[in-house]
Amino acid sequence: MKNTKEMRTWLDDLQLNHPLVIAGPCSAETENQVLKIAHELKDTDVNYYRAGIWKPRTRPGNFEGVGALGLKWLQKVKEETGLKTATEVANRTHVELALEHDIDLLWIGARSTVSPFIVQEIADALKGTDKIVLVKNPVNPDLPLWLGAIERLNSADIKNLGVIHRGFSTYEKSKYRNNPEWQIAIELQTRFPDLPLINDPSHITGKRDMIFDVSQTALDLNFDGLMIETHVDPDNAWSDAAQQVTPDRLVQIMQDLRIRKETDPEADYNNQLNNLRAQIDVVDHQLIELLGKRMKVADGIGQLKKQKNVAVLQSKRWNEILGKMVLEGSDNGLSEEFVLRLFKAIHQESINHQEKIINK
Ligand code: PEP
Ligand code: MN
Repeated sequence: MKNTKEMRTWLDDLQLNHPLVIAGPCSAETENQVLKIAHELKDTDVNYYRAGIWKPRTRPGNFEGVGALGLKWLQKVKEETGLKTATEVANRTHVELALEHDIDLLWIGARSTVSPFIVQEIADALKGTDKIVLVKNPVNPDLPLWLGAIERLNSADIKNLGVIHRGFSTYEKSKYRNNPEWQIAIELQTRFPDLPLINDPSHITGKRDMIFDVSQTALDLNFDGLMIETHVDPDNAWSDAAQQVTPDRLVQIMQDLRIRKETDPEADYNNQLNNLRAQIDVVDHQLIELLGKRMKVADGIGQLKKQKNVAVLQSKRWNEILGKMVLEGSDNGLSEEFVLRLFKAIHQESINHQEKIINK
């Protein structure tokens, strides 16, 4: 990879005193809708006006976007409001049309990032551009795929790069539409500390009332900006209705977020501390979820033992687990004493669960 410092020039040049804000509807629906929302966002913190023109839908038959016609509406947005414009591109033709219509920021959607063929086609079509290009994470939690897309764009001499974290799909039920898996974004940030990192709480949550909390976590983790889907009539939006907010709500969210931007040494220290604490919160949350998952599996074993009338405790199996975990613990910098105490507590909880099941 080339010097990643260069990649953030576009963001530094904006000299913002708040996180970068990309807002606008999930989809451009009508000229009137696009212009109305833009006018309501004109005198806010919004830096780029987004609208999906070509909509990748999971299954055919849903609204698939107005197509190139919508690019004319975005041009009008720029003329009438001065807002810079942003849209998703998913192939060479999209790129050519977006460039013809002077779209300022192009993003690659989650469904495209999964395909190196598509990413390469887009990179070739954009070769050498000075437009801003943002890469959404792939649909599946696969960091190398995300990195690969960034590298392809970087190799095509696209200087003004950034990434958008929009969460990852999961087969398991979750309170999110797309699980944040914050650790993946944190790892990307650690590898490319200069690459602007934008959070998309709309697609992570799928629900407008969760957007604030996810945005706050993102800012605590030092994200550089937010992409928030915004619509004048969210409930009647033609796509992603449940996750869009009104322009008024967007302004309120931006006002309420705790934004740390001071640069004195004390503030620096606090920033770092907050960032690390936010990372701890993410890991703690994962720990609890994993322990819950483990306990569910133990419950399943309890049911089986009940059917076969087998005793809850099999000490041979248990000693094997302990021995294995002590070794793995030591590989991960954990003392034997700690691993033993931890696993005894976990084991006790499993036994309690299984006792309950067997004696039901
Ligand atoms: C979008 O931003 O409207 C979109 C389709 O997002 P994603 O690629 O993250 O699903
Ligand atoms: Mn959307």
